[in-house]
Amino acid sequence: MNTSSLAEESGIVPTMIRAAAQAKIEVHPLRRNISVLEGSGGKIAVLTGKDGKLLIDAGFTVSKPRVAPALDSLSTDPITRLINTHWHVDHTDGNAWLHAAGAAITAHENTKKHLSTSTRVEGWSYTFAPAPAEALPTTTFRDAHRLRQNDTSLTLKYYGPAHTDSDISVVFEEADVIQVGDAWWNGFYPFIDYSTGGSIDGMINATKWNLSVVTEKTIIIPGHGPVADKARLTEYYNMLVAIRENVAELKRQGRSPAETIAAKPTAAYDAKWGQFLMTPAIFTQLVYSGV
Ligand SMILES: [Zn+2]
Repeated sequence: MNTSSLAEESGIVPTMIRAAAQAKIEVHPLRRNISVLEGSGGKIAVLTGKDGKLLIDAGFTVSKPRVAPALDSLSTDPITRLINTHWHVDHTDGNAWLHAAGAAITAHENTKKHLSTSTRVEGWSYTFAPAPAEALPTTTFRDAHRLRQNDTSLTLKYYGPAHTDSDISVVFEEADVIQVGDAWWNGFYPFIDYSTGGSIDGMINATKWNLSVVTEKTIIIPGHGPVADKARLTEYYNMLVAIRENVAELKRQGRSPAETIAAKPTAAYDAKWGQFLMTPAIFTQLVYSGV
């Protein structure tokens, strides 16, 4: 086994898959005919109704034996549509089985681009093989896309480069619910994928935009972490901006990445945000790369 496959075996991607393989799937009803499934990588939102189930994000394939009954528990509607918030494996790995089950797949054009080819994510020390043809989005868009299903108007909007270069938000208009994908990890320092166009400033811009379109009543579905509201999203925004400034100042002083990590620019936030996959040191390095 060479060094790179060793890294792949012990890295973040296998860790996420092992977690999904063991996790039970929890179902959280939100508002109207919208629910969220938790326990298979990124959050999976489900809109039920006469036009068939619409899912946002697909989770990991290893979760299919638990995701399928969870979907059945919501309604008997067939699965007819899937939207991907971005290209990452913890949101798209289940595309193939959901497509086989009946879902047309809608995503940003860069999601299709990255899934279509071999793609390296340096931050995960992992190279993804091209996804099978049946896992690829069947409808793509560049800036915005609207659709209507189950008496619900959905607006899909591209953030511009943020966590990757393929991130979109999805708004359920009548229900006042927004899914923001990995622009928000609620309660955790977020991963930022510089290999496919992400950056700290892109994350901050996406979060600023999210704050501009929600109200105190809006239900916000993050990519990871609990469903929450504007107050909690505001805390996240303030954290991103403060750490970005701390790290930028150290870099301006000429500190190396190791010296910047040693200076603990995230210290005030670590107890609250630094307890998941992205440790304070990893997150500091991610921010340093973008300032
Ligand atoms: Zn992601």
